[in-house]
Amino acid sequence: MLYDTTLRDGTQGEGLVLSLADKLKIARRLDEAGFSYVEGGWPGSNPKDVDFFEAARGVTWRHARIAAFGSTRHRANRPEQDPNLQALVASGAPVVTIFGKSWLLHVTEVLGATPAENLAMIGDSVAYCRADGREVVYDAEHFFDGYRADRAYALATLRAAHEAGATSLVLCDTNGGTMTDELATIVQDVISTLELPTTYGIHVHDDAGLAVANSLAAVRSGVRHVQGTINGYGERCGNANLVTIWADLALKMDLPTVPPGRDLQGLTELSRYVAEVANVTPDPYQPYVGASAFAHKGGVHGAATAKVRHSYQHVDPARVGNETRLVVSELGGRVNAQWRAEQLGHRLEGVLDPRELSGLVKRLEAEGASFEGAEASFELLIRRHQPDYRAPFRLLDFTVLVEQRDGAELRAEATVKVEVDGEVLHTAADGNGPVNALDQALRKALRAFYPELDAVHLVDYKVRILDGEAATAARTRVLIESSSPAATWSTVGSDTNIIAASWQALGDSLEYALWKGDARPSRRDERHFTTIPGGRA
Ligand SMILES: [Zn+2]
Repeated sequence: MLYDTTLRDGTQGEGLVLSLADKLKIARRLDEAGFSYVEGGWPGSNPKDVDFFEAARGVTWRHARIAAFGSTRHRANRPEQDPNLQALVASGAPVVTIFGKSWLLHVTEVLGATPAENLAMIGDSVAYCRADGREVVYDAEHFFDGYRADRAYALATLRAAHEAGATSLVLCDTNGGTMTDELATIVQDVISTLELPTTYGIHVHDDAGLAVANSLAAVRSGVRHVQGTINGYGERCGNANLVTIWADLALKMDLPTVPPGRDLQGLTELSRYVAEVANVTPDPYQPYVGASAFAHKGGVHGAATAKVRHSYQHVDPARVGNETRLVVSELGGRVNAQWRAEQLGHRLEGVLDPRELSGLVKRLEAEGASFEGAEASFELLIRRHQPDYRAPFRLLDFTVLVEQRDGAELRAEATVKVEVDGEVLHTAADGNGPVNALDQALRKALRAFYPELDAVHLVDYKVRILDGEAATAARTRVLIESSSPAATWSTVGSDTNIIAASWQALGDSLEYALWKGDARPSRRDERHFTTIPGGRA
């Protein structure tokens, strides 16, 4: 059983903020994916979580049971007067997850309670929620540290929770530092010593880089309830990554983790969806679902993968909804270039010899381009070799003036010459910097023919200075990411001069937008530019 705590423990991660709407979106998605439990938050700690449970009551959940999280009652309170327990019950969540102290250090130093008082707090709190008809999951906080400090006491806390009616006992490695072999030994000892008819669970953090390994070792030792978060989001180094755990359990350990009929093919999409809602850049190196998880760059790997897929892949990427990707770069050979071209929907036969394409890529990359992050430029490279291709415009000249006077703001002015449909346009525009001015001037000229460019925006602009060989000047690579309502794409330019590199990347970006949008030059709007009569550059 997978118990997701992205919405509660995951939001403890630095830089991760989820609105109420975000939380509901993610919860619905987890439900669709087949998760057994979705922990929505801690209603005793903040009003947003109270609102979440209120909204969740109005949703029909198909697979997931919604869990509310909170602590045991305060030392001095009776359960029915304890605000935290009241908030848990008031949430209306069918599952209540109560965490209690297993480690005497925390009992005496943090709570200021006696060992016996803590056992009573655990028992009372669980019993109170059970009596209200809730399923109670008991999270034994700091269990492994507590076990090392006082085994008998740590076991006594679990017994107290079980006797009060908890349905699952979850062993938490809250500080995340336990080594895998020790963790497995402790789990086995707990299960065999207590001999309780219960479901054991595991909740680990990744502080020693072992969260996934420890969760799987716990499963091997008899645990059947695994807590974690999507993409491993969480406090400090994060929680156990349920995306990896799900794939490992299903593909490597052959254990069913979700209701039958659900498969893993939505895993990559799920991971990216949650990243997008959380506004976190997806980690390209994430196991199974990262964009690079099945990417092959080296020519030898690429050629071998094209022949026998599993020669450099541990599983078929389609099983987790990911895909094999041969990265186009100077390290890749003919096969990489051909495969990627075909994946992008371009037939090379009769157009461009794959060997020639690969040679072209290698030469351009040697000059500083990089097609890895700029597939739109790679596609254009192929498209321009096709006999039926007519470029929507041709870049001719540009001039850029940059001025700063008397401490005033920097200003830039660009003049560009572009040819469209046999006509040379000459326009000028201002900008807050040289690249912005170039972009403005170029659009001003092209917009007269292609009004659809109004919907195209530059969203990111990256510059890298590449180390020059001893004899040559350093080159600059510019990567531009653009977007329209329908798509986002990246283009590249490289030159010894940053403005010239930007000019290429800008030109590619707009050309790509027009090509993909199948744009035809419309009647030009005279207001936008001045023409050079009979002009030719
Ligand atoms: Zn945690």
